[in-house]
Amino acid sequence: MTKITASQQAMDLEDKYGAHNYHPLPVVLAKGEGPFMWDVEGKRYFDFLSAYSAVNQGHCNPKIVEALVEQARTLTLTSRAFYNDSLGSFEKFAAEFFGFDKLLPMNTGAEGVETAIKLCRKWAYEKKGIPENQAKIVVCEGNFHGRTTTIISMSTDPDAKKNFGPYTPGFIIIPYNDVSALEKALEDPTVAGFMVEPIQGEAGVFVPDEGYLSKCSALCKQKNVLFIADEVQTGIARTGRMLACDHENVKPDILILGKALSGGVYPVSAVLANDDIMLCFKPGQHGSTFGGNPIAAKVGIAALEVVRDEKLAERAEYLGKLFREECKNIASNMVQIVRGKGLLNAIVIKPENGSEAWDVCIRMKDNGLLAKPTHRHIIRFAPPLVITEKQLREAVGIIRKSIESFG
Ligand code: PLP
Repeated sequence: MTKITASQQAMDLEDKYGAHNYHPLPVVLAKGEGPFMWDVEGKRYFDFLSAYSAVNQGHCNPKIVEALVEQARTLTLTSRAFYNDSLGSFEKFAAEFFGFDKLLPMNTGAEGVETAIKLCRKWAYEKKGIPENQAKIVVCEGNFHGRTTTIISMSTDPDAKKNFGPYTPGFIIIPYNDVSALEKALEDPTVAGFMVEPIQGEAGVFVPDEGYLSKCSALCKQKNVLFIADEVQTGIARTGRMLACDHENVKPDILILGKALSGGVYPVSAVLANDDIMLCFKPGQHGSTFGGNPIAAKVGIAALEVVRDEKLAERAEYLGKLFREECKNIASNMVQIVRGKGLLNAIVIKPENGSEAWDVCIRMKDNGLLAKPTHRHIIRFAPPLVITEKQLREAVGIIRKSIESFG
């Protein structure tokens, strides 16, 4: 009789009792530290997904966990019906950190995006003077901003969208990395905002041409349209700058952050803007029971301090260059292109003898490295930014060996 492993048991349990809205790699993780995770049988893996760039500060970062535990013992949740003694410090710290007047705290990335959409519309009616219910937001093909009904209404991915209608109106979809398409869209005087990922992460790490963001931002300014940067995945040092917009010295009118804002220990997201925009929200017009809770506030401060003190943006910049250089040496027809910025990278895989990106990920898993395909033929590589150069070189060795093993 074959022995049923603890991994198999855990997978069977999820399969039987959990909804099938994910297709995980067959590995059951039980522990994480820095750039590593361990499965229930004790095998160690390099984590090259970082929970979709939430764990930039490394798994179970001691400073962030300490902040969480200490606050969890003191006060966890008050709701915003009352003040708490942690939120104001977080708002001040993060607003100054990113150079905005104000911060609005939420929990998940999708909630941050929803908040930004509502804020932009409110500003459109109350400040820009767009007639009621006519405000539009321009978004890009291939975008990924989350999973709510409004957000999937602006998606172009059939998996995300099909059979979830009716959809929320008010979005104009233009090609990504196409300045003239934006210029044309902005001729419509009812456009209130342009929401964009500085690098499209889920779409497969598409890096736009240099100058794209700054040109888009300038166009928006010209037309009194809000430039909304969704930096949920690209923000907080991932691409080699604190924000991916910093590569082009672009200051968004509305900035959306999530994921690494907590280092992956707690759901914390935020929207940042200056007073003329943020103060369009009045009491009772937006909120969330958990948004801005004391744990999130303490965790948020600790997570940003770690990024600053450990110079994670500089690390990501340096190690990212090294990663792309090393990956170019992989001797395999399967590697079509290596692209990315900082430590947000992807390899586009050309299928070989019937093997594709999924098979490469399985082989890498067997060899001790976890990454996940996005859109079938692309593998994203995004390790925690605390990874050392020696560890990165070892990890690239695993990637190389795995891909080259397909012949
Ligand atoms: N925006 C971007 C750019 C993302 O990459 C994601 C998640 O991958 C989201 C928003 C949604 O974040 P969450 O899954 O926390 O709702």
